[in-house]
Amino acid sequence: MIKKLINFITFVDLPIRKKFLLFFLGVLFWFAVMFLTSVLTNVTINNRTGRIAVQVMPLDRISGKITRKLQRMSIDAAGMQAVSGIAEFNEKIGISRTRLMDIRSFLSALELGGQVYDIDRDSNKLIERLTVTPVAAAEKFSNDLLPLIDALDTELAGLADLKFSGSNSMQQDGGPLADKILNYRQTLSSATALSESFSTRTAKMFAADLKAVRETARLSFYIQGGVLLTASLLLLFFTVSISRSIAGPVKSIIRQIRSPGGGEVDLSRKITVRSKDEIGALSEGFNHLMEEIHDMATFKKVIEEDDSLDDVYSRLGRVFSDNLGLDKFIIYEVSNSRNKMKPVYPVILDEKDIFCSEEVLHNSELCKVKKTGHTISSATYPGICKQFRPDIEKVHICMPMIIGGKTGGVVQFLLDRENFKAGGKDGRLFRAGQYIKESLSVIEAKRLMNTLRESALKDSLTGLYNRRFLQEYTETLIAGVLRREKTVGLIMCDLDFFKQVNDLYGHSIGDMVLKETSDVLRKCIRTADLVIRFGGEEFLVLMLDINEGETINVAEKIRETMENTRIKVSDGTIKKTVSLGISEFPADTESFWQAIKFADVALYKAKEAGRNKVVRFNREMWTENRF
Ligand code: GH3
Ligand code: MG
Ligand code: MG
Repeated sequence: MIKKLINFITFVDLPIRKKFLLFFLGVLFWFAVMFLTSVLTNVTINNRTGRIAVQVMPLDRISGKITRKLQRMSIDAAGMQAVSGIAEFNEKIGISRTRLMDIRSFLSALELGGQVYDIDRDSNKLIERLTVTPVAAAEKFSNDLLPLIDALDTELAGLADLKFSGSNSMQQDGGPLADKILNYRQTLSSATALSESFSTRTAKMFAADLKAVRETARLSFYIQGGVLLTASLLLLFFTVSISRSIAGPVKSIIRQIRSPGGGEVDLSRKITVRSKDEIGALSEGFNHLMEEIHDMATFKKVIEEDDSLDDVYSRLGRVFSDNLGLDKFIIYEVSNSRNKMKPVYPVILDEKDIFCSEEVLHNSELCKVKKTGHTISSATYPGICKQFRPDIEKVHICMPMIIGGKTGGVVQFLLDRENFKAGGKDGRLFRAGQYIKESLSVIEAKRLMNTLRESALKDSLTGLYNRRFLQEYTETLIAGVLRREKTVGLIMCDLDFFKQVNDLYGHSIGDMVLKETSDVLRKCIRTADLVIRFGGEEFLVLMLDINEGETINVAEKIRETMENTRIKVSDGTIKKTVSLGISEFPADTESFWQAIKFADVALYKAKEAGRNKVVRFNREMWTENRF
């Protein structure tokens, strides 16, 4: 569950292209977040500082300037009482009135905006020039202060009038001048107090705004720092997880390919499939490939160790059905020398059970694959081979087994037509082809071995088995007969006066007579029986699973056929006869080799009895001979 969630979050199962696209979008998102936060903080700070610069600062400074002007006026008023003459008194009043005008211009600048010239009226020097935009907060201040300014103006005018009336009691206390100055100073101090309190308020506003700016700056620092940290951590996490999900499996594949031990595939080192993306598919494909190589290598090793060709065919067949799920197929073995082919796997008893016309079995040239050595498929070309039975609905694919440059075998697969819908191919066939290829060298070696053994066990002149065959196979033969509780009939057969043929007609005619004799013997027995060239002109016939007592009939048949056979020689034809000795195993003896000896003894008796005779062995003969 948690693993699923993690896979979803880290988009492990997405295709690589989508992974990087999402990664890119993620980076873009965080860039956007950072950009937005920086824009937001910039705007906020800009607004705050703008307010400070445009509203609070001019208000603060101008109210400060007004306060200073009023303070100077207090000093002027104090000076008025101590002046020595009219001129000095008038000068003080004039300066104060100029200062009042300055204050008025300051107030109007605050309300309406414009230039402000701050001039030191004592020295008439310009202190500062300020440009002010209208400040809304100044209105109340101006409304409160202006009546006081007007009053001050009136009182100053009154003071000037007093002076002009010619009074001389300027320096007297309690006189009308002193009263007026006192009044004036009172009005002045209340105006100063008003201005000072306003100054204090603007100063507070200034401080508050500055603090807000600082806090906004600090907050934005934390937010941006946090965003940067989160984004960096996420990017790091995704970079590592994506690169690891790609690099990990690729490294494993490289390691597997370079694994020591050459062709040996270490299947314990399978790549673990962690994702469903291309890398996952690659890992799975690689594992599959490794498995296949391993299977193939094992298959080859196993069939190399198989004893017989039949074992190899049946193992190949089982790979088709068990591993590949191809259950309808026939493996044919082709004999090029005899132009025949025969089904070798699965076991087919009736020739009619094959999927082609039976003729191909006896004339393999009819089989298209045998003839051309190419794979054919009726999926691509329906009706490609005329020998395929038209009543079978399935698609047939026939592959050649090329052995020693010739078609030494054919594998025919039958599949449902659905497997090839929309021009598709069945991958199993490709793998079947691989297995066939893998087995070819083994089949070739085994076939060669078989021919070698055949030649070692067969007599080249007559094509009959030789004595060596008897030595090799007796045990197996006897075991089978004993198990089935049957009898082996033994006939020892020797040409009469054969030496004469050699002497009269020469050795090659002698050979021909031997061949004729072997043909007669073959003709008189069943296919399951065996004829062995036992010596020069001596043959041993073994009749397997015969009923006890029937051997003599076959022997008689041989004798008769031989007697009636005419053999061509240079000047016409000759007739030859044979003598035959019979014994039966295990009726006569429990030792097979002794049974052969007994047949030989009987043959000797037949010769003795005048040749061209059949003699059945009996116990007396043996006792006679033993001593
Ligand atoms: P018998 O009726 O007593 O058997 O007389 P036989 O002449 O047949 O018997 P013998 O054993 O005296 O002679 C066998 C001859 O068979 C001797 C040998 O030259 C000849 N022979 C053995 N093998 C071959 C062979 O492969 N080819 C030919 N042409 N002759 C062979
Ligand atoms: Mg002889
Ligand atoms: Mg002989």
